[in-house]
Amino acid sequence: MEARSRDSKYHVILFPFMSKGHTFPLLDLARLLLRRPDFIVTVFTTSGNHSFIANSLSDTTAFIIDLPFPQNIPQIPAGVESTDQLPSMSLFAPFALSTKLMQPDFEKAIETLPPVSFMVSDGFLWWTLDSAIKFGFPRLVSYGMCIYSSCLYKAVAERRLLFGPESDDELITLPQFPWIKVTRNDFDSPFTDSEPSGPLFELNMASLIAAINSYGTIINSFYELEATFADHWNKESGNKAWCVGPLCLVDAPRAQREPHEKPTWIKWLDQKLQQGRSVLYVAFGSQVDISPQQLKEIAIGLKESRVSFLWVTRAKELELGGEFELEERIGDRGIVVREWVDQREILMHKSVSGFLSHCGWNSVLESICAGVPILAWPMMAEQPLNARMVAEEIRVGLRVETCNGSVRGFVKREGLKKMVEELMEGEIGKEVRKNVEEYGELARKAMEVGGGSSWRTLDTLVNDLTCA
Ligand code: UDP
Ligand code: UDP
Repeated sequence: MEARSRDSKYHVILFPFMSKGHTFPLLDLARLLLRRPDFIVTVFTTSGNHSFIANSLSDTTAFIIDLPFPQNIPQIPAGVESTDQLPSMSLFAPFALSTKLMQPDFEKAIETLPPVSFMVSDGFLWWTLDSAIKFGFPRLVSYGMCIYSSCLYKAVAERRLLFGPESDDELITLPQFPWIKVTRNDFDSPFTDSEPSGPLFELNMASLIAAINSYGTIINSFYELEATFADHWNKESGNKAWCVGPLCLVDAPRAQREPHEKPTWIKWLDQKLQQGRSVLYVAFGSQVDISPQQLKEIAIGLKESRVSFLWVTRAKELELGGEFELEERIGDRGIVVREWVDQREILMHKSVSGFLSHCGWNSVLESICAGVPILAWPMMAEQPLNARMVAEEIRVGLRVETCNGSVRGFVKREGLKKMVEELMEGEIGKEVRKNVEEYGELARKAMEVGGGSSWRTLDTLVNDLTCA
């Protein structure tokens, strides 16, 4: 790729957090900004994440700068530079807090670069705001969340709504959005602690304060999907939200492949085409920890449902679940894939007609863009709120049935089988399929060059930031 010269007019720094879900949208944003001929983009990362980012951006002229990841952080194993490699998600906050040690190297690198027009950095890299102030350029935040979930967090926090109910499953009506009900179980600690403290609280507070003091927030979503919430946010919060997505629609072009070059799971999906759109794609993202008992139950529930399925699971889960046992349990109706896959390619495959998902925001958006309805099984972070949005607000999916009706409950094989069949073959399944196809169309329109709402929003933002 031809390198752009330093004389280019505008220079944007992107600094994604070291997790796949937080990184993809910013790489797509790099691609989008580089469509402008007078822009150069520098992506900051660490050596351990370099090859992943360089491969993803190989179709672009983005510069990549690696900073050394802090060493000898208590509890963080040496060599771990991404949250998906952490042995447990309980180490997330110490990992994220340790990134602050990168600040001196970050600032040394900025000194060598062309002047910066603006920076978009992840919410968990709160300390980059201090650097932006020091060097005199604006910082935008990227959280990788939709506005619906941000509004719900804000709604419960500002009126301390989680501390009224006796039980974790009692429904709480939000006065700001009276049609929405949540439970305490939709939230993780520290939101559920009446007197929060500890590393995660420290991290959240630092990110929040830095976000409030930043220029605004880049939202990987589109206005038509959550207009009520975008309007509410921009009226009530001091931190303006800019909906510029779905950024996955700016994806890298895929190389043409000979049939023998295709990964085995794509060949398997090709074979399934004879049965039309019939495959359930199953994946719970790059982060969540699932218990061995729950893994086994998923395997049996899937086997007993009458659908074909492609289950992408993490090596860590299989270690817990026992690889051979799991394979034995699923029979010949489905396949299990243990490798990193191109999820967007799978969702776009014509055989795929449903997605059993943990509702990470990227997965939700990718499913909407592919017109694939979701069977929502949220596990942690803001996923329970995303699942409410999917099943109750925009109705592009259904929820799995837990054995006790609680958001956090165990999912038994019967509850899984019943909802898989409803999504793939039932009447409500048809309704949500129609909705997701309509939203998929709106998503494409939002990104249309020139007239789409997300295109116009990014154009306004960039003009505001570069015409000063
Ligand atoms: N560079 C960068 N980000 C930019 C522009 C430049 O990191 O947006 C770095 C680039 O990696 C190289 C140096 O700055 O190491 C010089 O860049 P370039 O080759 O564009 O300019 P030259 O000095 O050759 O005119
Ligand atoms: N992903 C992928 N291949 C995999 C696992 C994940 O391409 O094998 C991508 C997926 O398409 C999505 C991101 O990784 O873009 C995961 O983000 P999400 O917000 O869905 O969940 P998280 O992993 O952050 O919980």
